[in-house]
Amino acid sequence: MRALVEVNLDAIEANIAHIKSKTGAAILAVVKADAYGHGLIPVATRAIESGATWLGVALLEEAITLRESGIEVPVIAWLTPPHDDFESALRLNIDLSVSSVQLFEEVLAVAAQVGIKPQLHFEIDTGMRRGGVLSEWEEFVNYATLHKNEYIFVGTWTHFARADEPQSDFTAKQQREFDVKLAELVQAGLQPQIVHLSNSAGTLAHPSAHRQMVRLGIAMYGLSPDVNAMGDSASLGVTPAMTVKAQLHLVKRAQAGDAVGYGGTELLKHDTVLGVVTMGYSDGLPRGTTNSAGVVFDGYFAPLVGRISMDQCVVDLGPDSKAQAGDYVIVMGNGGYSIDQWAKAANTINYEIVTRIASRVPRVYL
Ligand SMILES: *Cc1c(COP(=O)(O)O)cnc(C)c1O
Repeated sequence: MRALVEVNLDAIEANIAHIKSKTGAAILAVVKADAYGHGLIPVATRAIESGATWLGVALLEEAITLRESGIEVPVIAWLTPPHDDFESALRLNIDLSVSSVQLFEEVLAVAAQVGIKPQLHFEIDTGMRRGGVLSEWEEFVNYATLHKNEYIFVGTWTHFARADEPQSDFTAKQQREFDVKLAELVQAGLQPQIVHLSNSAGTLAHPSAHRQMVRLGIAMYGLSPDVNAMGDSASLGVTPAMTVKAQLHLVKRAQAGDAVGYGGTELLKHDTVLGVVTMGYSDGLPRGTTNSAGVVFDGYFAPLVGRISMDQCVVDLGPDSKAQAGDYVIVMGNGGYSIDQWAKAANTINYEIVTRIASRVPRVYL
């Protein structure tokens, strides 16, 4: 295997246990985007074994894949555009989220044809201005009331925009806005079975937002929602589950002054041993990290030299390196340059680093 993503499922289990020790709320494990690059089915399966009682995904296709592999716990898909495959959602017992009358009407129309009542969650926009009912609120509540016998009202929810900023009062403001809207639903005779507001940051930093269920994403994978504002994995008590490794394709000596890679952007400062690593930007390594990231071989940091190519990159193993072609280097993760360090080097967030590791890199489970 020229490169692999090692996924430590025990870390995922321990991370869920750690969160469970901090809240009485049910855990919905967020497994969208191939479980943040960790692999949908193995992560979903282990999350359920670890005490998560719900699964959440963005796309209906992701929810359908979960059902097709035999997973039976409640699943919600929250990003369904009009004309999505609602018939499959109903037949496979997948919960849907509605945040417009238009989508609500379409789902109820399909449900009437299929003869299955949909299990619905209402998303309320309380400040993020992304998903959720906003300007249409009154009309939406009227519609929901008028048709209340045509669906099962499972949940009401919102999403926080700034839960990772402990100093901000925006999360409290979103909760107040949510509670006003929730009271209006109840007043109209619409009582949800569950309320769910919190992502990982909300779960870690805002206990008042736990309610009946939390939607746990990045922290389950052992990463911090915001390293600067909330601290790193260790300080949050979670362990990163992903480690990326790759083989050296070639090891060779090169001389001071040699220009490495496309554009010859970097000149070697000393005679050294170069390693050609079998991963590049098409595998998900962010190309913008040249000069600021690297790999670890045998406990030693080997910085990237020159630009990252599509399928490969070059590292400086040091003049005395004992590395040989075929040896593995730790590209990122435990024992290597961390996912947070790669994110910083690429001027992005850890979420983007893990979700972009390409599907052509096999996932291996420990
Ligand atoms: C991705 C997502 C989450 C999880 O967010 P984290 O920050 O990874 O915990 C929760 N809820 C919704 C609606 C999401 O899209």
